[in-house]
Amino acid sequence: MLANRLQHFSDSIIRRMTRIANKYNAINLSQGFPDFDPPKELIEALKQAADNGPHQYEITWGSVEFRQLLAKKQQKLMNIAINPDENVLVTCGSTEAMMCAVMTVCNPKDKVIIFSPFYENYGADAILSDAEPIYVPLIPPTFTFDKQQLRAAFEQGAKAMILCNPSNPCGKVFNREELEYIAQLAIEFNTYVITDEVYEHIIYAPYQHIYLASLPGMDKLTITCSSLSKTYSITGWRLGHIIADKHIIDGCKMIHDFLTVGAAAPLQKAACAGLAFNDDYYQQLAQTYSEKRKLFLAGLDDIGLSYYEPQGAYYVLVDISSFNPFATDIEFCEWLIKEVGVAAVPGSAFFKEKEYRYIRFHYAKKEQTLRSALSRLSTLKEKLPC
Ligand code: GLN
Repeated sequence: MLANRLQHFSDSIIRRMTRIANKYNAINLSQGFPDFDPPKELIEALKQAADNGPHQYEITWGSVEFRQLLAKKQQKLMNIAINPDENVLVTCGSTEAMMCAVMTVCNPKDKVIIFSPFYENYGADAILSDAEPIYVPLIPPTFTFDKQQLRAAFEQGAKAMILCNPSNPCGKVFNREELEYIAQLAIEFNTYVITDEVYEHIIYAPYQHIYLASLPGMDKLTITCSSLSKTYSITGWRLGHIIADKHIIDGCKMIHDFLTVGAAAPLQKAACAGLAFNDDYYQQLAQTYSEKRKLFLAGLDDIGLSYYEPQGAYYVLVDISSFNPFATDIEFCEWLIKEVGVAAVPGSAFFKEKEYRYIRFHYAKKEQTLRSALSRLSTLKEKLPC
């Protein structure tokens, strides 16, 4: 008999869609990762690391050089003091960072507030920590929250809240007023906020990324998780990090020490080349993604698919409710892979409310890949079974 916890979640639908896409040779716009190379500086640094090392364990908390460069970069952006020895932990992707953060603050049966739609890992993070999620809806089309509903969730005695900003999957970028309200509640109820800010550099004008930790009083309560995956197009390197108050990081270090020991040493070394980039790199990244967004959304318009415009990140939720002949969105996505040759993620992987209304595409792909996907998608409606 295997453990009971396995009954409370399934494998990741996002990653399952990638496996099905590969099987049918579909264009994979499901799991969000680029099909283009990382910056050449990182590739060069990786070659150097292959020749010169390190090849053995790094310091468990992350290499000194990595933590110093990261602290310098994030301190400027987040406008808080970051001591590389006391406030930084390097993890195996933001996935480990989030799991580690939840395990560090939650006791069994503690409540964790999660906005719905949410990135699917958060539900599993809570279950694996024996915590109980309280879902608060983000309401389309702006995906803002109802203040009273959020307050009511805090009033249930939540130990922590998870905030994905910019949001995967809906592309919401939380504005100052919304973040101030979250901060006000977190301070009033002494609740930790675990943020997932992996799309911090993928923001579309006029929206701006505001770090929750930068708001007054929030440096002590915010556990800022992020990763290098999306910022440097290195999702396979599995490099993430946590930035938080020393007392929280000390706890996270204990969990991380026994969960994974540490992130891959040669990859940490090579990634330092990216952490040393200047502001131009990040501006260019945002520009590149805003061109991809423009191309993909214009293509969806031409095909007549309706969607919510993302303000940040690289996902778009498309509304399939008016033409989905299948019982579920999973069946729709399986059909889409097999018959149209494009993979998406069924929206039910992200929504607590099982509505089967949406599917999620990502557009972190070369222009040519996006054009081919759009051309295939233009046949979607005529191929639908009646
Ligand atoms: N963030 C990516 C997505 O939502 C997937 C990341 C992962 O699979 N670890 O598609």
